[in-house]
Amino acid sequence: MFNTQYSFTVAERFLRYVQVDTQSDPHSNTHPSTSKQKDLSAMLADELLAMGITDATTDEYGYVYATIPANTSKEVPVICFCSHVDTAPDCSGTGVKPIVHRNYDGNDIVLPDDGTQILSTKKYPYLEKHIGKDIITASGTTLLGSDDKSGVAIIMDMANYLIANPDVKHGTIRILFTPDEEVGKGTAKLDMQKLNASFGYTLDGGEAGDLEDETFSADGVQITVHGVISHPGYAKNKMVNALKLAGEILDALPKNDWSPETTELKQGFVHPVHFSGIAEKATIDFVIRDFDTSQLTVHEARLKKIAEDVIAKHPGASLEFNVQEQYRNMKEVLDQNPQVVAYAKEAIERAGLKVRMESIRGGTDGSRLSFMGLPCPNIFTGMQGIHSKTEWIGISDMQKAVETLVHLVQIWEEKS
Ligand SMILES: [Zn+2]
Repeated sequence: MFNTQYSFTVAERFLRYVQVDTQSDPHSNTHPSTSKQKDLSAMLADELLAMGITDATTDEYGYVYATIPANTSKEVPVICFCSHVDTAPDCSGTGVKPIVHRNYDGNDIVLPDDGTQILSTKKYPYLEKHIGKDIITASGTTLLGSDDKSGVAIIMDMANYLIANPDVKHGTIRILFTPDEEVGKGTAKLDMQKLNASFGYTLDGGEAGDLEDETFSADGVQITVHGVISHPGYAKNKMVNALKLAGEILDALPKNDWSPETTELKQGFVHPVHFSGIAEKATIDFVIRDFDTSQLTVHEARLKKIAEDVIAKHPGASLEFNVQEQYRNMKEVLDQNPQVVAYAKEAIERAGLKVRMESIRGGTDGSRLSFMGLPCPNIFTGMQGIHSKTEWIGISDMQKAVETLVHLVQIWEEKS
């Protein structure tokens, strides 16, 4: 189905995109958070137009919207493919020099611009699956940006393939590229009406065959402790120091479970993330996480009881306990639309891969999109070692992802 000429193009695109600096900035209040993200958005809109996708546009916020028109007489739901153009603030994205390592031999790879940056099969066991194949790294001083320019390249290459092969039948396909995913604002200025799709897939996952349909559900909790203040020189039997009470609350948290540092897999946790205050008043911010949304209130009740027990020991002190919803497990939405995940599984299998269902111990743009009305699981791109100088990706994984998408649009058409 795919010749080598075709296969080469996804890597070519990728090499081009990673050289555009698109780092986002968590401290910025503008949209996009950094204007340089628009450099890549403009390039992508131009390339889509050059392919013959006539409605490709980018807006002031750095989003790219485009449509591949249906070529079937069947009524097929509108499907959207989405990736983010920005790279993580954790590691420099300026002057990325991608290196293609042909026919990887299994030995350590010392990156040329910083000899302390070494890729090994010990650090990345998944590298062993790429022995004899081609992989791409950065040069040692920057991240590579496969998160998520691999997703961008895969979607662009799928678009190019579908335009060039009109015999491949599909419904209307919407393409969406977003800014600022890495700073949690990927959907902030997204126009859902303009997007006008029924179901979506993000291309923002790891190993070939990975399919993620589950994220944490998340709340934030703020505990405010009010003490009793008086002049410190005359405070005997009067003062109750809010800072000390807040410290007692933190100390009363379980030591061996219920925290990020003691949980894994499907376990939830309660995690203090910020502490501030004065003797009179102190606040602690927590994040509450669980795959089972109903467990959030259980965690919150337990946390509240711990805090109240501390406060009860100190007459005069009082407590406020505020819960704020953050995001919800996308599985709740996806389970109501089981065909979205089922078709993706089938597409991965048709591409000759084994499906690996994964759960994300965090949130994604897909979880936000799912609750904004676009049920949206996450498909692999091959990205590895993300947000680091030893980030890498196998070219064959990107090719398999393109192949998966081409199967996926056909499956939606077949089953409609
Ligand atoms: Zn990503």
